[in-house]
Amino acid sequence: MVYLLFSFLEEYVPIMYSSTLFTSVLRRAQQKLTATRQLYLHASRLHHCTAPLTQLTDDELMTKEMVAKLAKQEIAPLVRKMEKEGRIDDGVFRKLFENGLMGIEIPTEYGGTGSNFMCTILAVEELAKVDSAVTVPVDIQNTLTNSLILKLGSEEQKRKYLPRLARDCVSSFCLTEPGSGSDAFALKTVARKEGDTYVVNGTKMWISNSDVARIFVLFANADPAAGHRGITTFLVDRDTPGLTVDRPEDKMGIRASGTCVVRFDNVRIPEDNLLGEFGHGYKYAAGFLNEGRIGIGAQMIGIAQGCLDATIPYTLERKQFGKDIFSFQSLQHQISQVATELECARLLVYNAARLVEAKRDVMKEAAMAKLFASETACRITSKCIDFMGGVGFTTDFPQEKYYRDVKIGTIYEGTSNMQLSTIAKCIRKQYS
Ligand SMILES: Cc1cc2nc3c(=O)[nH]c(=O)nc-3n(C[C@H](O)[C@H](O)[C@H](O)COP(=O)(O)OP(=O)(O)OC[C@H]3O[C@@H](n4cnc5c(N)ncnc54)[C@H](O)[C@@H]3O)c2cc1C
Repeated sequence: MVYLLFSFLEEYVPIMYSSTLFTSVLRRAQQKLTATRQLYLHASRLHHCTAPLTQLTDDELMTKEMVAKLAKQEIAPLVRKMEKEGRIDDGVFRKLFENGLMGIEIPTEYGGTGSNFMCTILAVEELAKVDSAVTVPVDIQNTLTNSLILKLGSEEQKRKYLPRLARDCVSSFCLTEPGSGSDAFALKTVARKEGDTYVVNGTKMWISNSDVARIFVLFANADPAAGHRGITTFLVDRDTPGLTVDRPEDKMGIRASGTCVVRFDNVRIPEDNLLGEFGHGYKYAAGFLNEGRIGIGAQMIGIAQGCLDATIPYTLERKQFGKDIFSFQSLQHQISQVATELECARLLVYNAARLVEAKRDVMKEAAMAKLFASETACRITSKCIDFMGGVGFTTDFPQEKYYRDVKIGTIYEGTSNMQLSTIAKCIRKQYS
């Protein structure tokens, strides 16, 4: 009976899901389905079956299928145009909001989708198969901004910001500065208390989404004498006087994703917009970036899978020496090698995501997932160009874009060197 119910819903709910907005009726059906499924999974655990890492719940499967369909139908036709114009199409943003992808974990009472972290990871992976620039706002909004507000915000802040973030407001995460990248807590932006407001002065650099963002999560030092223990987190609305955004950087990859310098010139922020506890900003940045890094891992496996999916059919069709090039054992072995590495990366990312859901410490696993997924994805996209031969080096085929887009994965949300340092720190602690 339960199986019959699952198969009926599996067949019909994704169709409704992808063609309409998230209605409350649909959400209730989805929640019931998820609850039933969880009961079922719980029962199977009692019978000593441990679910494989790649086994998804119905909610997760529906999300994955819905996003894959959206990416194929609504985003794929616009990829080249968006890259050329250096901006994400307004209609694409509209679709992301309409389909609940900018508020995946925001509870329905705040206007969100009410799904889990794994759904965010799957959404990022599916979008990245088609255009990784579009994953940037989805990833930052879900893994950083929404999560910070959900976990640290006062009820008033949640009521004020979460519905907007789920409905129509893009956000930015402002940590990096011209003088502080890997050494993020050496930041120089200062928030000086004046009555019941903070006056902020400083410059943030490399801020993703800031070309279109309406809400900025800002890290500024409110007590420079205390060093990094003065770093405090604030929510800032874009139209606050003194906040200005420069024109987007001219980047090598993810060109449609706007990355700008954001300037704070005597920006007055009401005390009510302080997020979490005074002086805890460095802890929040370090902690929440763990989840962010799993999102980047998902972006990387999506890019690598998208690139591989575009490449293997070509190797089956392209003929040299009288046969398709896939027939050559040396090519088969290389394809098998990269497919295996990609599966390893996916398992690391999914395992880290499941650890987040289980509320377990994830610092080492998140760093490993991000490090391995980004380095592997760089290797895979490069290999795909080799498999394509000369045509892979042209803009007529998508491989060169995947190759340019993937590079950012070893840099943002902590470079590969910084991930290695984090992993080493965890290993030292484990053995000390
Ligand atoms: C497209 C893009 C989007 C971004 N989006 C955002 C955003 O939305 N919000 C935000 O706050 N930031 C963002 N960033 C900033 C990003 O997180 C930083 O660029 C990154 O952390 C590296 O800092 P850096 O560029 O200053 O490099 P640096 O810190 O100067 O590093 C340069 C090199 O030195 C190495 N290095 C530095 N310190 C060490 C060390 N202790 N041990 C070993 N090696 C070391 C690094 O690994 C790297 O190879 C973005 C950057 C880019 C390019």
